[in-house]
Amino acid sequence: MNSIRTCLICRKKSNPSGMVSFCISGGGLKVAVKSSERFGRGFWICDNFKCMQKLVQKHEVYFRRWLREPVDIKNVLSTGLNAMNSYHSAILKSGNGIISSRLEKRINIFSEICEGRRMP
Ligand SMILES: [Zn+2]
Repeated sequence: MNSIRTCLICRKKSNPSGMVSFCISGGGLKVAVKSSERFGRGFWICDNFKCMQKLVQKHEVYFRRWLREPVDIKNVLSTGLNAMNSYHSAILKSGNGIISSRLEKRINIFSEICEGRRMP
């Protein structure tokens, strides 16, 4: 399927493979690491530092229409980071999976944001 999604932050249209999926389900926001984890209202955001950082800074503006309660965005991202790390190690442990460079890129971006540092 050749679907195209629009980034919630920069409004650029691209292939979902280059984007992180977020969803609002049960009133909470979460990162969908795998496609099977997409429930409820979904949002797509480019997997680059710029869009992710803007999400952290202005999430209240972007999600105002969908979230009634304020959301702890750093917590959402660090939960997503933990999930991505477990997925990454599960692939490594199985020995037959292909580690996607996209996944590693996302882990780096999320780590940078959650830990407040930038990697060289
Ligand atoms: Zn974007």
